[in-house]
Amino acid sequence: MSYQSNIDLHAHSTASDGELSPSELVALAVKNGVETLALTDHDTISGLAEAQIAAAKHKLNLINGIELSTRWDNKTIHIVGLNIDANSKTLLDATIHLNKLREERAIKIGKKLEKVGINNAYENTRKLAKNGTVTRQHFAQFLVANGHAKSHADVFSRFLVNNKPGYVSVEWPTLAETINYINTAGGVAVIAHPLRYNMTATKLRKLISEFKYSGGKGIEVVTGNNNQEEITTVTNYAKKYDVAASIGSDYHNSNTPWVKLGRLSTIPQGLTPVWEKW
Ligand code: AMP
Ligand code: MN
Ligand code: MN
Ligand code: MN
Repeated sequence: MSYQSNIDLHAHSTASDGELSPSELVALAVKNGVETLALTDHDTISGLAEAQIAAAKHKLNLINGIELSTRWDNKTIHIVGLNIDANSKTLLDATIHLNKLREERAIKIGKKLEKVGINNAYENTRKLAKNGTVTRQHFAQFLVANGHAKSHADVFSRFLVNNKPGYVSVEWPTLAETINYINTAGGVAVIAHPLRYNMTATKLRKLISEFKYSGGKGIEVVTGNNNQEEITTVTNYAKKYDVAASIGSDYHNSNTPWVKLGRLSTIPQGLTPVWEKW
């Protein structure tokens, strides 16, 4: 039996590819009954200060977080850092490097899209990202708005992915480097959405064991759109590898109504909740 949780440890704001500003996100969390929220924007901590101010007004417990892009075994993996020190120089320097990689990739994506007749994609996408981190989600917005694709799902099947127009691979920091940034900032590293990487069970086990060896502490057991069977699968990994369990919706916007901020079932019994690690 699962119950409604009042904790959500994975969500995005306009500091990366979320639709809501940090304050609007906090307000929505409060409206949805969330008591503890982590803001985990892609490769940036720039939304945290605003989120903390809003959280203090609403008496919400806001956990400083980040979602870091890492390269492992030729794949991009996302590692969420929770309860980080937002003043950590190591982490701040890492985000500067990551955003430089993102900017360079975005320019290359723009050039590749030009080759298939889609012009000014970088310039327009950069505008959509405003002052935030530029992501493929922003490219998807541009491509849909300009009639090149029907939906975001359509974009991620026909563009921006391996062997499709606009794909650019990035040498993100390694798994060990990424975990080290988080640990140095006093945070807890968590493997984000473990079932979304199209990995075999053998590969996923290898990832979890290397992650743990490098100082990682947790794995997302309950995520935005997974079902009971998927929760059970990851629960078994968490037990086998003795890693703590995290819970997070990965909320971005209202376009995916099946992913709601804070509408999550609780962490299964018998697991160590990730907050016991901070
Ligand atoms: P990036 O980190 O810039 O490579 O962009 C990754 C982001 O694109 C993810 O965090 C999602 O927000 C979005 N994204 C990736 N794959 C998909 C997909 N299949 N459908 C919808 N959005 C996706
Ligand atoms: Mn995203
Ligand atoms: Mn992610
Ligand atoms: Mn995310």
